[in-house]
Amino acid sequence: MIIAIDGPAGSGKGTISKILAERLGYVYIDTGSMYRSLTYLVLRDNIDIDNEKAIYEAFSNCKMEITKDCRNLLDGEDISDRIRTQEINTNISKISGYPSIRELMRLKQREFANDHSIVMEGRDITTEVFPDADYKFYLDASIEERTKRRVKQNEEKGLESDYNEIYESIKNRDLADMTREYGALKRTDDQIYIDSSNMTIEEVVLYMLEVIK
Ligand code: C5P
Repeated sequence: MIIAIDGPAGSGKGTISKILAERLGYVYIDTGSMYRSLTYLVLRDNIDIDNEKAIYEAFSNCKMEITKDCRNLLDGEDISDRIRTQEINTNISKISGYPSIRELMRLKQREFANDHSIVMEGRDITTEVFPDADYKFYLDASIEERTKRRVKQNEEKGLESDYNEIYESIKNRDLADMTREYGALKRTDDQIYIDSSNMTIEEVVLYMLEVIK
């Protein structure tokens, strides 16, 4: 069973997919964390961000893993806490826009479904990675609501955050993700569209479970 979920930055995909997977007893895969890990690698090793070939090579030669408890490992090192920075957010869209990178990501992402039922979330899961998924959702929320959620998340982690800065960062990332030539975030007729602006996490999860049952 494959449940595919796409949506813009901060739409709650991560939190909701994780709970959904737990309730269904499926494996949860956050594909954004894979693009984040690669961006981390590029920045750490000073690879030229304009050099698609060099990035592809580094990606081919690294070992990227997601553990059962959703930790991100790069060549065995736990980098989960280092991939959620503003520096990564600023640089990620360039790297995720490269066709060769997306192709290789997709191959790796499809492997997760070989021997598990999965809930996978990202930007192109319903359209490119698993266009024939059993259930396909597009999870949305207004940009104001998404910004507020991100600010609250940061505060809970004890991080300083500025509403306007986060608003602009989400807006820019959405624009890049939705307008790129290859693997853009898209709404299609066969996705189940959910606007969660005025819904709680639990309401969204229960709605999805109802659809799936
Ligand atoms: O989901 P998250 O916000 O962590 O994703 C970070 C970035 O990774 C996105 O803004 C997008 O550029 C890229 N991404 C992607 N395709 C996916 C998942 C994430 O291009 N399937």
